[in-house]
Amino acid sequence: MNIQKHPIVVLSGPSGSGKTTIVKRLVSAAPVQLVKSISATTRAARPNEVDGEDYYFLTDEEFRRRLAEDQFIEFAEVFSSGFLYGTLKSELDRAWSRNGWAFLEIDVEGAMKVVHQYPQAVTIFLRTPSPDEFERRLRRRGTESEEIIQKRLATAARELELASRYRYVVVNDQLDQAVSEICEILRSEENSGNAG
Ligand code: 5GP
Repeated sequence: MNIQKHPIVVLSGPSGSGKTTIVKRLVSAAPVQLVKSISATTRAARPNEVDGEDYYFLTDEEFRRRLAEDQFIEFAEVFSSGFLYGTLKSELDRAWSRNGWAFLEIDVEGAMKVVHQYPQAVTIFLRTPSPDEFERRLRRRGTESEEIIQKRLATAARELELASRYRYVVVNDQLDQAVSEICEILRSEENSGNAG
């Protein structure tokens, strides 16, 4: 069978940025068929999480066995938590065999490893509003101490630095707006012939 290898879409962003909701919305709303990659992880399943749907929950030993067999496109230890997360090569094949675009929601370290192997990957960074805007809002709210404000600003600045490594940056201010911007990106990628 001649399988068309559609582009890989990689989405990253700080936790708590509403990423999960956006991912769900995109899978049903996107103008191209996105097939969400199911990552493997060594962390334990949370209540309501289903093995093989949310993640492939693996023991540390099983994860490392698969690593040794070169089954991953990328993997990373996320948040220095001691837990490993990775994208299996078989997830790309699953997307392509369904004539879809593999859709990876992974951290920055993993994203850069994907780009290294697939330079055509469509990388999107979801970020909170700009540090200036963020600071104005924080101060207007007047509920945070100066110390907290400074910490939040430092985090926002770090995010901005990471965002510069992605092809697209979408500000996740309003959910609907972010989803439609990403749909627009995918439409333009499809039209630009980035389809294999
Ligand atoms: P959680 O444990 O909250 O489900 O996920 C924590 C973080 O792990 C997420 O922000 C996500 O970006 C990252 N992550 C999930 N799957 C993968 C993966 O396959 N590879 C990498 N590098 N990061 C992942």
